[in-house]
Amino acid sequence: MAHFDYRDGHLCCEQVDLGKLAAEVGTPAYVYSKAALLESLAAYDRAFRDVPHVVCYSVKANSNLGVLSVLAKAGAGADIVSGGELFRALRAGVPAKKIIFSGVGKSRDELRDALKAEILMFNVESRSELRVLDEVAREMGVRAPVALRVNPDVDPQTHPYIATGLKTSKFGIPYADALQVYEEAAALKGLSVIGADMHIGSQLTKATPVADAVARVVGLVKSLRERRIEVRMIDVGGGLGIRYRDETPPTQEQYAMLLLPALREVGVTVLLEPGRSIVGNAGALLSRVLYRKDTGTKKFVVIDAAMNDLIRPSLYDAHHDIVPLDERRRAAPTEKVDVVGPICESGDFLAKDRELPKVEEDDLVALMSAGAYGFAMASNYNTRPRAAEVLVDGSRYTIVRRRETYEDLVAGETTL
Ligand SMILES: *Cc1c(COP(=O)(O)O)cnc(C)c1O
Repeated sequence: MAHFDYRDGHLCCEQVDLGKLAAEVGTPAYVYSKAALLESLAAYDRAFRDVPHVVCYSVKANSNLGVLSVLAKAGAGADIVSGGELFRALRAGVPAKKIIFSGVGKSRDELRDALKAEILMFNVESRSELRVLDEVAREMGVRAPVALRVNPDVDPQTHPYIATGLKTSKFGIPYADALQVYEEAAALKGLSVIGADMHIGSQLTKATPVADAVARVVGLVKSLRERRIEVRMIDVGGGLGIRYRDETPPTQEQYAMLLLPALREVGVTVLLEPGRSIVGNAGALLSRVLYRKDTGTKKFVVIDAAMNDLIRPSLYDAHHDIVPLDERRRAAPTEKVDVVGPICESGDFLAKDRELPKVEEDDLVALMSAGAYGFAMASNYNTRPRAAEVLVDGSRYTIVRRRETYEDLVAGETTL
């Protein structure tokens, strides 16, 4: 992970000593590197520099206002999937004209709010949604700019929970129906058909399924033009994977090289919706070892972060490297342990049967590659306040979300 390295024996994010940071803000805490965020965004802009494009960062991967505002200032747009994300994106300074609204279940209120804000495009996922969007837009006396999210039926070769472009998926309009649904959309007075959209899955470690899907969407766009439906934008979705352990996902440059030939044939503005590949390796979760426990059959390391802070291991069997903040500990003999949190669920683990250098009680550790779908998926289960979030910039840091308090957790509730 670039920008997370040992200096003088201490794990640092950029120039900030994470042990000192943990002492000041407490644990668990998420830490993000501003430089890493900007570098991954810039890699997309560089890779697609020869074509008109907008990088619409997928807000759901990490929706912290500090993170969003850094990306917005650097020119990013936003891909949102809810009214809440629209609110966040606007609050963080993302121009409405760079916001795309995706998702299978947008409510009328959400559609209305996004129309009011005058966003760039709605990625519509069903005939029913088309009809409702048309109604809402006509009520408001406007035309909604739409793309249809097409389900290209390709296998992205990723975890089933994050594969979205297969025939059996709830997402998108089946490829075989797309032409007809486009014709229906083009006839509706409240809509203006401007784009075509796809998103086949997440943590993709090969770009060829994306390229296959793009080729299908480009074919569709050609057919649409023959029918005088002028599609000017192709949204290729997000999904580019990152390295958690030993994966070798394509770089942004390789990804672009594979997608651009087909996209150039139709001369469109290219929209990108990367989430994980922008923030995933820009963040780590800091935690303290509470207890060691040996049951005779198994060794456990109990830390103060849990599945409510980082659910990916429990939900997807995901791997996060776990490293001590004190570099000397790395030289300790290794042992096989389960790293678990305090939550009352056997599913509460951060690592299972992991060979780790021995850590001691009170040690600080970092769970790496936790910038995407980490805090964003955090909950208050077991009435645990959500962790603090910190953004590092060079030798300074800002708490971009303070740790929740018990009062925060009960605000809005009432006793009887
Ligand atoms: C989740 C999502 C993304 C981002 O996916 P990543 O794997 O984080 O890049 C992009 N587009 C849509 C429609 C999504 O649902």
